[in-house]
Amino acid sequence: MRVFVLALDGCEVGFVERWRLRGLMQRTYGSVQVPGECFARILGRDGRIIHEPYTPMVWYAFITGTLPKGRIGRLLRRRRWTNPVVDKLVDVFARGWGLERRFGILRRMGFKRRVVDRRDYGVPTIFDHARKPHAIDVPAYSPMWNLGIYEGEFGFDKIPNVIRQAFKRFEDKKRRVAEILGSDWDLIMVWTKLLDIVGELAFGLPEMYRAYRAADAYVQELSRELGDDCVLLVVSDHGMKRLEGTRSFGMHTDRAFWSLNFETDWRPKSVTDFYGKIVEWLRS
Ligand SMILES: [Zn+2]
Repeated sequence: MRVFVLALDGCEVGFVERWRLRGLMQRTYGSVQVPGECFARILGRDGRIIHEPYTPMVWYAFITGTLPKGRIGRLLRRRRWTNPVVDKLVDVFARGWGLERRFGILRRMGFKRRVVDRRDYGVPTIFDHARKPHAIDVPAYSPMWNLGIYEGEFGFDKIPNVIRQAFKRFEDKKRRVAEILGSDWDLIMVWTKLLDIVGELAFGLPEMYRAYRAADAYVQELSRELGDDCVLLVVSDHGMKRLEGTRSFGMHTDRAFWSLNFETDWRPKSVTDFYGKIVEWLRS
């Protein structure tokens, strides 16, 4: 059976329920636990360090069915150096967030960096089980993936533009999906950060509601297009709650939303549970 995975970064089950977004809920829905192994300390929007599910680590767990422990966990928290000796030294001596910044000297010496991707894994992913897979911007997997345009942009004045860009990117992504839907494929996974961006930068504001409605409408559109002989799995990497002490900033929670376009008694418990099921669907 063909499988379409719509990866809605940061989709919060609480909002789906509060606004009764039937498109997002599909026929069966729920939420899964994000294990502690997928957490990292990151710089929050208000400048504080917060401990929360870290997007590339959760998606790694989703597509491999394994937790990002040990070396791969460390690698997912940073970018790699293309020179293997330099990379090994940095990995061994600069573990942890923050230390990497002090390696400007390496950049000035001409060493280059790249993001962690499928080359670094050593375990199979859902894409290895498909005949004609398409991975569109999947974090920690697709070549040159990145988490978005606003990394390092903390100015309040930039927020409206970042949100406008997020809506625009969502539309661009829909167009990219439309282009491959008509081709020969058995697995498509497409990742969008729209709900994560509005959750983090416009928590509780009308833009956030508008984004959830846009996602809801898109799932309905996809569902019609794909029909009943295709699995449509909508899934998230974490939920979202208000960042304490702020008016409209959000932070990640450890409950991740999921939904399916058919009735089933299967209830995933953890983000690592989807891998085996996707493999099973692809084989059926
Ligand atoms: Zn995320």
